[in-house]
Amino acid sequence: MIDFFSWTLVDAKEWAVYEGLKAFRGQQVFDALHRNFAQNFDDIHVLPQELREKLTADGQLLPATEHTRQESADGTVKSLLELHDGCLVECVSIPTETRHTICVSSQVGCSVGCTFCASGINGVTRDCTAGEIVYQVLFHHQRRPVTNVVFMGSGEPMFNYDNVRQAIAVLCDQRGIGLGKRRITVSTSGVPDRIRQFGHDEPQVTLALSLHAPDNDTRSQLMPINRRWPLTELLSAMDDYSQLVNRRMTIEYVLLKDVNMSTEQALQLAALGKRYHAHINLIPFNAVGSSAHDAPSDAEVLQFSNIVRDNGGIATLRGQRGADIDAACGQLAIKKGGKKLDC
Ligand code: SF4
Repeated sequence: MIDFFSWTLVDAKEWAVYEGLKAFRGQQVFDALHRNFAQNFDDIHVLPQELREKLTADGQLLPATEHTRQESADGTVKSLLELHDGCLVECVSIPTETRHTICVSSQVGCSVGCTFCASGINGVTRDCTAGEIVYQVLFHHQRRPVTNVVFMGSGEPMFNYDNVRQAIAVLCDQRGIGLGKRRITVSTSGVPDRIRQFGHDEPQVTLALSLHAPDNDTRSQLMPINRRWPLTELLSAMDDYSQLVNRRMTIEYVLLKDVNMSTEQALQLAALGKRYHAHINLIPFNAVGSSAHDAPSDAEVLQFSNIVRDNGGIATLRGQRGADIDAACGQLAIKKGGKKLDC
């Protein structure tokens, strides 16, 4: 199966020439996928029938089919996509009046194993290809044009670096969706060297640091990756990143009752926010079945956010979109029996 969705327009033309075709045949395929949402090669009527038949014989066009869908009363749509080998990944469409944001997965499952996240429960199965990432966006783009993409679904994007970068290149191709890089956010749990490299490679893309605790002990309990790269190493990389990239980054902070919500932690978080001129997203925990963590009360959330703001942190309380569906990352895949069907 050829991964057509992983190609920019230039790649598609090169493929056509490599196949002994005119370069414009590559452009016709690219347009069919990104503008006309062709579902199979027979839909691409501008191609000669002989070529359509050859491509059909080589394998299916779409890298995934929708396995399960949940729709929230607030318009959030969470789709579980089944990839060609039976693996399952989630992508979430989050519409507002002015935006249509898609949250994509970069890996099937996740190796990081944060204690508050369902995606890491079964570990990682494999990386998503660039085409599988792009298709998560195109899948929802057919319904309403996409304005923003966030890499905050399952997986650690920095562990699938090349495919994530290629997916960004395709999504920003002016002949396709043509997203601006500034409308893309890549979230990381904290891989120091990759953060530095990302600053060099993608200075226009917003970086979101999944911090979730401002002290080493708590962070190591919540995020095993902190034992490999403790806060001192991570913050050193963030210092280098902020020297390189003159843009506001984001700090993600999930609020877990009695774990990371002390006054001291609020003060430390505010200080880190100021150090990086970061926007802090406070995310009240959305409990997952028999989770090890509890959701904080509204009063506890308010108190914590007030301390952060009163001490100079630029903090937003993220509203819970899709609270009536399994909208936290990994929840739908887990409910459907784990990270995969039969791959
Ligand atoms: S929060 Fe992100 S990095 Fe942590 S386990 Fe979930 S998907 Fe992986």
